[in-house]
Amino acid sequence: MIIAVASGKGGTGKTTVATNLALVLAQEMKIQFLDCDVEEPNAHLFLKPELKNSAPVSIPVPQVAQERCSYCGLCAEVCAFNAIMVGKEAVLVFEQLCHGCGGCAYFCPEKAIREVDRPIGILEHGAADSISFVHGKLNPGEALAPPLIKAVKETIDPSSLTIIDAAPGSSCPVVEAIRGSDYCLLVTEPTPFGLNDLAIAVELLKKLSLPGGVVINRSMGGEGEARIESYCRREEIPVLLKLPWDRELASLYARGEPAAAHLPEWRSLFAGLGKRILDEKEAR
Ligand code: SF4
Ligand code: SF4
Repeated sequence: MIIAVASGKGGTGKTTVATNLALVLAQEMKIQFLDCDVEEPNAHLFLKPELKNSAPVSIPVPQVAQERCSYCGLCAEVCAFNAIMVGKEAVLVFEQLCHGCGGCAYFCPEKAIREVDRPIGILEHGAADSISFVHGKLNPGEALAPPLIKAVKETIDPSSLTIIDAAPGSSCPVVEAIRGSDYCLLVTEPTPFGLNDLAIAVELLKKLSLPGGVVINRSMGGEGEARIESYCRREEIPVLLKLPWDRELASLYARGEPAAAHLPEWRSLFAGLGKRILDEKEAR
């Protein structure tokens, strides 16, 4: 089973939920944790895995042999990302825009294009006690996260329960991270921005036909929270857990310590969350 943890915006406590859930479920089953928030992976700060292997991840980008090129322009026509431009006497490749799809090389009638690797980041593997851990780290300034996320997801071990920590938001990296999951947890907070971004994330789940539930973090009651709950009722998406605002938790977070490892009451909250997800999945 694959559980993705996502949020419509940053700073809602998505990684806190993902890491605590992993720690609690690891008491009962084999857990694999994939940090797919490759622009800012920080789950390792909480799980503290011992990282043993590191491997570069690249995408294939075109390199044009100008002497073979007839400047027919076909490569630029087939490129959906405007990553290649054909002039009268030169073909320019904008590597940062290239998604490595291979289309230009495939269609070039003169076989003037060969593909060369362009590194975009690294993949690191390790273990945090019994939890198998993998994360991707995008190179600084690199914009192309999806191929690295794909590489992280290629390590999915079907014999484990896999928890994916997705990037915040609702753009391509999030789609890539949560696609193919069995269940998606959406972490939100009781603010007007929280509700707005949650609604976008819920739309995304619908488009991907992904079942999901909501965790309200920093719960303090009040109007904002009531609005989120009423929205969830309307959309028929269950609120699985409300995590109260807690000074001790904030201080643990600041020290990179997961609450489930230190506070028994939080351990039981996350154990309850794990059970609800497994029950929800079973009921479908
Ligand atoms: S498709 Fe091939 S031959 Fe045509 S412009 Fe591009 S590189 Fe040159
Ligand atoms: S590999 Fe794909 S994305 Fe890159 S330049 Fe060629 S057609 Fe465009």
